[in-house]
Amino acid sequence: MLLENYTSPWMDEELHIMRDAVARFLEREFVPSMEKWEKQGFVDRDAWLKAGQAGLLCASIPAEYGGGGGNFKHEMVLVEELSYANITGFGNGVHSGIVAHYINSYGTEEQKQHWLPKMASGEIVSAIAMTEPGTGSDLQAVKTSAIRDGDHYVLNGQKTFLTNGMSANLICVVAKTDPAETAKGISLIVVETEAVEGAGGFSRGRNLEKLGLKAQDTAEIFFDDVKVPVGNLLGTVEGKGFVQLMEQLPQERLIIAAGACAAIEKALRITSEYVKERKAFGKRILDFQNTQFKLAERFTEAKLARTFVDHCAMQLADGKLDNATAAMAKWWTTQKQNEIVDECLQFFGGYGYMLEYPIARMYADSRIQKIYGGSNEIMKLLIAREI
Ligand SMILES: Cc1cc2nc3c(=O)[nH]c(=O)nc-3n(C[C@H](O)[C@H](O)[C@H](O)COP(=O)(O)OP(=O)(O)OC[C@H]3O[C@@H](n4cnc5c(N)ncnc54)[C@H](O)[C@@H]3O)c2cc1C
Repeated sequence: MLLENYTSPWMDEELHIMRDAVARFLEREFVPSMEKWEKQGFVDRDAWLKAGQAGLLCASIPAEYGGGGGNFKHEMVLVEELSYANITGFGNGVHSGIVAHYINSYGTEEQKQHWLPKMASGEIVSAIAMTEPGTGSDLQAVKTSAIRDGDHYVLNGQKTFLTNGMSANLICVVAKTDPAETAKGISLIVVETEAVEGAGGFSRGRNLEKLGLKAQDTAEIFFDDVKVPVGNLLGTVEGKGFVQLMEQLPQERLIIAAGACAAIEKALRITSEYVKERKAFGKRILDFQNTQFKLAERFTEAKLARTFVDHCAMQLADGKLDNATAAMAKWWTTQKQNEIVDECLQFFGGYGYMLEYPIARMYADSRIQKIYGGSNEIMKLLIAREI
C-alpha cells in the first residue's frame, strides 16, 4: 500500500522494537476498554498504572527521574501508535509530552525527584491549566492569581478545558504572581490536588461533555483562597512562566501534528480497505474514477504531511525547530486531517455516520485538533509575524 513502504528517517532499530511493543500493548490493554471509557467519559486509573509499568509514560524523561531515558522520537512513536489504534482519550500527550517536560526543564532538583518518578509510574496523573473561561488564545490576559503570603501562595481563579482535569493529582497552573504585569507577571505553580482537596477552596467542576474525544476527561477547576507552599513555584524565580510556556511550544505543536499525520494515515488505510470491498452498480467503490482521483490526491497530501512532520521531528531532535515552522506543521496537518477524514467518511456512505465505524469517531475526534494547542488562526499569526 502507498503508505506502507515508507519508514521515517528518524526511526532506528530500538524505536522499531518500541513501536511493535507499544502497538501490542495498546491492542491488548487499551483497545478492549475503549468502549467502556467512552461511555464513562474517562480512562480508568488502572490504565495509567499499566502504561507506567510498560514504560509508556515519561518516555523522554531521563532515567534518573524514573523516565524512559529517551527523547522526542520516543514520544512521536507513542503519539502515532495511539492514533493508529484510535485511542484518543488517553491524555498522555499532556502528561508526558507537556507537564513532565515543564518539570524536567524548569524544576529544581528536589521538584524533579519529587514528582517525575511518580508521573512515570502512573501514580500521579498530571494536567496543565492555562485556559480560563474569559481567555484562551490570549494567554497573557489570564486572571488566576497566586499571591505570596509568607511561605505560601494564595490561589484564586478559575480554569477550564483541562485535559485529564478530573483525574489529575498534579496540576501545573498558569497564574499571575504579579497581576499588575502581563507576560512578566506569569508563573507556573504546581498544585498537588491531594494536599489542597481536603483543605477547602479547591474544587473540580463538571466533566465537560464534548463533541468527540469521549474517553478523555476534560474539566473545569476552581481556586478560592487555596494555599500552596512557595516550594511549588516551578523553578525558583517568579515571573518566568510565560517564557517557559513559549519555549516548550514547538514540541507541543509537533505532538499535535504527529497525531494528525497518523490519523490521516489511519483514515486512508481503513478507507482503502472499505472501497475495495463495498460494491455499488456492480463495481467496487474504488473502481469509480471519482474515488480513485480523490484518494490519489489525499494519499499525496498524506505523504507531504509525513515528510514535513518527519523533517520537523529531526529539527527538534537537533534543537533547531523554530516556532514558525512548528506552527506551520500544527495548522496544516490538522487542517488536512479534518479535510481528509471528512472525505474518507463520505466513501463509507451511511455507515460512515455510524459510531460503530471508526471513521465516524475519527471525524468527531479530529475537530478539536484545529482549536487546542493554540488555534490554527493563532498559528497563522505566528507565521505571519516572520514574513
Ligand atoms: C478538548 C479540549 C482540551 C483542551 N485541553 C486543554 C488543556 O489541557 N489545558 C488548557 O489550558 N487548555 C486546554 N484546552 C483549551 C484550548 O487550548 C483553547 O480552547 C484554545 O486555546 C482556544 O481558546 P478559547 O477557547 O478561549 O478561544 P478564544 O481565544 O476565545 O478564540 C475564539 C476564536 O477566535 C479566534 N481568535 C482569537 N484570537 C485571534 C486573533 N488574534 N486573530 C484571529 N483569530 C483569533 C480563535 O482562533 C478562535 O477561532 C482544551 C480545549 C478543548 C476543547
